[in-house]
Amino acid sequence: MVPFLDMTARHAPLREELMHAVGAVIDSGVFAGGPVVERFERDFAAYCGTRCAVGVGSGTEALWLTLVAMGIGPGDEVITVPMSFVATVEAICLAGATPVFVDIDERTYTLDPAALEAAVTPRTKAVIPVHLFGQAADMSPILEIARRHALRVIEDAAQAHGAEYLGRRTGSLADAGCFSFYPSKNLGAFGQGGAVVTDHEDLAAKLRMLRDHGQTGKNRHSLIGWNSRLDALQAAILGVKLRHLDHENNQRREHAQHYDRELAGLPEVLTPLAAGGGRHVYHIYAIRVRDRQDLLREFARKEIGFGMHYPVPIHLQPAYRILGHQRGDFPVAEQCADQFISLPMFPEISPAQIAFVTHSVRQTAGVCVRL
Ligand SMILES: *Cc1c(COP(=O)(O)O)cnc(C)c1O
Repeated sequence: MVPFLDMTARHAPLREELMHAVGAVIDSGVFAGGPVVERFERDFAAYCGTRCAVGVGSGTEALWLTLVAMGIGPGDEVITVPMSFVATVEAICLAGATPVFVDIDERTYTLDPAALEAAVTPRTKAVIPVHLFGQAADMSPILEIARRHALRVIEDAAQAHGAEYLGRRTGSLADAGCFSFYPSKNLGAFGQGGAVVTDHEDLAAKLRMLRDHGQTGKNRHSLIGWNSRLDALQAAILGVKLRHLDHENNQRREHAQHYDRELAGLPEVLTPLAAGGGRHVYHIYAIRVRDRQDLLREFARKEIGFGMHYPVPIHLQPAYRILGHQRGDFPVAEQCADQFISLPMFPEISPAQIAFVTHSVRQTAGVCVRL
């Protein structure tokens, strides 16, 4: 038995610190916004290497409110990938804009810069590359194309807290970076939360208004906003966990190397590629096999937890049929959706647990079809 994710193991060593931080919030009597949220925003901005951070209610709202704050809405097109969590595309649609897809790269699974320019039209306003599974998208060519066409670039960094690209942390690479603190993310709250990080003070100020009913002062609502505040309890918990993030990411990286070593040389299994010049933080460790049925059966038999991120690409989801896509439109994303299996990955996973998983993969791989 190996769980896909072990939340209890994750928090046991931090219990004292977490209880202390939660206790301080209870004693302060301030729960919505306030100094604890502001301190976390300062710490998180410093961590990402940006001037500002704005805490919001979730990663989905971070993306949506960033688009709204940038004035992107009906009639505008926003380019992103069909291989992501659905929230990326939801945010574009909720802003009233139209999502336009670009396929992912065959090996890094992030937006393929070579396919980007052809998707730009006079209506394109922004690009949202997704740092999928904990690996930064190939930002240099994306930023260069965006600059030429005067597009805003918003990083979906919900799976990549602490990942790096050419020595800089995700979130600091473009106009704005959107993070989720959903419990299972590399930096997770005990409920919902999210943040937008940016160097643009004016964008941050607008986001602070939007998350708080468009208020510019008490009872003065200058914009149509929303209720999307990060609460003090979550901020206190995140403040504690942020101090452990680098260590936990290093542990994930070691586990990924262990998996890589154990699965090397199996012609039926494709392990993830960590692109040069980056620092992959393995939110998800996904392998690819041509036909995953045998392996999934073996995992179920041995009670090995697994995930599939994501078995149906967004352009083929029923809700997005309105966009008029069909199978074949984004072949790389579609093939990956058919082939991905996410192996157990969390900082506290033991070498013995990894060995148990890789042993099962090696045993079953022999009967899998070569890639
Ligand atoms: C988790 C996630 C989101 C949404 O975050 P929530 O906090 O759950 O709203 C957005 N994009 C990606 C890529 C994610 O993995």
